[in-house]
Amino acid sequence: MGSDYDLFVIGGGSGGLAAAQRAVEYGARVGLAESGRLGGTCVNVGCVPKKVSWYAGSFAHILHDAPEYGFDLKVAGHDWGRLKAGRDAYVGRLNDIYRANLDRRGVEFFQGRARLVGANEIEVAGSRYSAANILIATGGYPMVPEVPGAELGITSDGFFDLETRPQRILIAGSGYVAVELGGVFRSLGSEVKILTRQDGVLRSFDPMLREVLMDEMRKEDIGIETHAVPIGVTRDEEGKLTLETEDCRTFGGYDCLLWAVGRAPATGRLGLEQAGVRKDVGGFVPVDDWQSTNVENIYAVGDVTGRVALTPVAIAAGRRLADRLFGGMEDRRLDYENVPTVIFSHPPIGTIGMNEPEAHARFGEAVKVYVSRFNPMVHALTERKVASAMKLITVGEEERVVGCHVIGHGADEMMQGFAVAIRMGATKKDFDDTVAIHPTSAEELVTLR
Ligand SMILES: Cc1cc2nc3c(=O)[nH]c(=O)nc-3n(C[C@H](O)[C@H](O)[C@H](O)COP(=O)(O)OP(=O)(O)OC[C@H]3O[C@@H](n4cnc5c(N)ncnc54)[C@H](O)[C@@H]3O)c2cc1C
Repeated sequence: MGSDYDLFVIGGGSGGLAAAQRAVEYGARVGLAESGRLGGTCVNVGCVPKKVSWYAGSFAHILHDAPEYGFDLKVAGHDWGRLKAGRDAYVGRLNDIYRANLDRRGVEFFQGRARLVGANEIEVAGSRYSAANILIATGGYPMVPEVPGAELGITSDGFFDLETRPQRILIAGSGYVAVELGGVFRSLGSEVKILTRQDGVLRSFDPMLREVLMDEMRKEDIGIETHAVPIGVTRDEEGKLTLETEDCRTFGGYDCLLWAVGRAPATGRLGLEQAGVRKDVGGFVPVDDWQSTNVENIYAVGDVTGRVALTPVAIAAGRRLADRLFGGMEDRRLDYENVPTVIFSHPPIGTIGMNEPEAHARFGEAVKVYVSRFNPMVHALTERKVASAMKLITVGEEERVVGCHVIGHGADEMMQGFAVAIRMGATKKDFDDTVAIHPTSAEELVTLR
């Protein structure tokens, strides 16, 4: 007897939607279950509302600098409620578009929590369905540390629910979410302190990026306290929060505490055991190069796999899996090397490939590094200066580019094109032979000496 579906997707976020929609294009019968809002983390509590908030912060900087470009401005303040309402409405429109797209393309949609009841069977909304292939694309959720009073803090999910902007905010965490949201709060006028467990923010990134970003954050009066391991949080009768650290430091008088301490995979109550799907110690679903789990015909993509947790990665993995399963493209799979990414900090970061310590560890003496630091022209007339810095990491006699790291004005829009070149194996000479676009910051990358 045939199955109800050729593919059943659990999770309507970036990866799940991409796989489902690509699969129906090939004529597959596809069902998709989503327990929350369509679009998943990225659309509802991630990339999209975060980037809108980042734009708000960027407008604040532009307005601050505008008088030096001749504008006679009086900025009466910033209405956080209006920003939130506009952002929520935008996200709501996207939810509707996603829903309409599923209907238009013929993906059968189930609103509800799904779970596996066997290697080819799913239960959702009280009914059971069989599927020849199942895709786990359930993503993750923000973690909260297990310390007394942790529930007094919010997470990145809670950031998007804030009706008013807290005046004094404490952020525990060192990853991109901490620096991005810290930058938004600060640029809109909040007092911000970031607590990191180790020696600063963005530990896995190139040291130049970390150094310049931390300098710039400190110039904007964002406090960064390192080696601060939280052990408890209390709230006083005025509602102010105090956080205590392992080494007996206290950080008190805060209106809001935001935990940005990482994300856990959404694999609880998913029935993985019933279907025999293995989890790793962190609860992630390990997959091979083909997105296959240990159970035949059960696949996983996106954050739940614990690999490069980015929206375009989840989308690319989902689409390629559908191409392979239903489009006859036997060799189609995602290569996780050289994935470019942007940190929407103020200033932004664009990065791809190895950082300098990684390159030295792998290629030793064969590594040659080119660096440039400068004040971008956008600040030529302004008293407020925000540095830019760029680094190219090359390997061997041909000087193949294995890492490219940029921080500064425009870095967010700069990296995509360079990523194409680097994926194609560009060398330093290819960069040098490319005529510069003047005057831009990006031209520095093709004139490095
Ligand atoms: C604050 C923040 C900012 C970010 N910014 C960026 C950015 O700028 N750029 C970028 O590339 N990435 C960014 N990310 C990461 C990005 O959002 C994720 O990598 C991406 O959403 C992962 O997609 P996914 O499909 O794996 O999971 P998700 O998008 O999380 O989707 C999983 C879906 O599955 C649903 N689900 C879970 N369990 C079940 C179940 N049992 N039954 C039915 N449905 C279920 C969930 O409700 C969810 O909708 C950001 C993340 C955060 C938190």
